[in-house]
Amino acid sequence: MLETTPENVKGFRDKWDVYREDEDNPCWKSPDEVIDIQNSNLAQQMELVAKYHPYYKKLFADKGIEAGDIRTLEDLEKLPLTQKLDYMQNAMDFRLAPEQITPRDILYEVTYTTGTTTGKPTPFFNTTHDMFATALQMRRMCEIAWMTPQEVVLNLFPFGVVPHIGFYRTIWYSAAVGMRLVFALTGSGFPEFPVHNSMQKAIEMAENAKATLISGIGSYERRFFMEAQKQGRDFSSIRIVLALGEAVPQGMRDDIRERLADMGAEDVFISNAFGFTEMQGAMPECTQFGGCHNSSPDLYFLEIVDGETGKRKPEGEVGMVAVTHLNRRGTVLLRYLLGDIGAIEYGVCPHCGRSGGRLVIKAGSTYATRTKELIKVKGTLINPEILKNELSNTDGVIEYQIVITKKDPEDPYSLDELMVKIAAAEGHDTGALEKEVVDKVRMAVEMTPKVELVSMADIFDVNTSLKAQRVVDSRPAEN
Ligand SMILES: [Zn+2]
Repeated sequence: MLETTPENVKGFRDKWDVYREDEDNPCWKSPDEVIDIQNSNLAQQMELVAKYHPYYKKLFADKGIEAGDIRTLEDLEKLPLTQKLDYMQNAMDFRLAPEQITPRDILYEVTYTTGTTTGKPTPFFNTTHDMFATALQMRRMCEIAWMTPQEVVLNLFPFGVVPHIGFYRTIWYSAAVGMRLVFALTGSGFPEFPVHNSMQKAIEMAENAKATLISGIGSYERRFFMEAQKQGRDFSSIRIVLALGEAVPQGMRDDIRERLADMGAEDVFISNAFGFTEMQGAMPECTQFGGCHNSSPDLYFLEIVDGETGKRKPEGEVGMVAVTHLNRRGTVLLRYLLGDIGAIEYGVCPHCGRSGGRLVIKAGSTYATRTKELIKVKGTLINPEILKNELSNTDGVIEYQIVITKKDPEDPYSLDELMVKIAAAEGHDTGALEKEVVDKVRMAVEMTPKVELVSMADIFDVNTSLKAQRVVDSRPAEN
């Protein structure tokens, strides 16, 4: 891998027609020019919203807001935040409903938001206009993550019951750049139509196809590499791992890279992209921990806000991440709270030289955490991200799970208990490991955990789960 410097990145871009010929790519404009594009697109989006968006039309009328009041990114602050629940309960009302359907308004595809609290997936609609926009967005994402038309991609995302955005966008980014694509078709299966493959089959496919790029969910990818390493597979062709769905801390990256090196793949670039359905794709890193890039600032404006007041936070300050659509025809969201915490920098990236904004977070090792909030244990607020980072950086811990429970599970008023389940690497002194985990947790959150040794499958069964569940709160809900 080349070092990520503006010069090297420019050389990379010049080398491949597919990137060089994209002259309007806003990432290569100045930050001020990006703001001009965003303002102009926002004004157009607001006109469509005022005419055709059932939910916002009603909201604006209730609040006395004129669409013409919102012309620039600064004006956006006049709008209230859109909560996840508002959208989940009224998904159909978040679609533009023009009186006359032109070709660009044709419903082309439905994706779904996942990880909802109710477990009910929420539809997110793409029209023809959105599909073409997303294809170009995908191409720009690939440019940031150093992908070339010569990649052989293994799509390791699950072919799931609910269409997984990662699975479908891997198809589109491969298509948009002209890469070859191999489908692993993993997932929990559907007995009536037995089309799914096991992880074992996927390992064989990756080796046979000489895959160069693995696209999937971070914790699943890691297990995939662990199993392949055990079998002594030749994975020397791999050069990029696109890891989505969760934060991949330093310890986990080092672990993955060591395993890949053992299988012949040196110097692999792990891009921990931050993806979500409401952005129809992912924000990749241009270098390890270089921040997650907005590859299409002409389509999405990201801001960091105070979740209570809706006030925008200054650049670099940590708060809730909100997204505003700037050029969409299907589902349109304004100041929509993703439920993630992060900070943003709008200036030129010091690593690659791109504009467009990068999500960063100063605390812990990740840029945007999936944690909605701190957890109260024994009356004290703890940040599970810090615990996750400590545990994933512990040599000998190959899987872990943080469980918050009650001393007496039958008694909701008994004391809270912090438990850490760990699966130990073979040949490790489990007594010493247990002690190390206790010490680390104590240092991190000033609380002594109970440690339980379990098997890997007890924590994360790759045959039934999409990704590892790192934090489980099994306390009964308070009434
Ligand atoms: Zn960069």
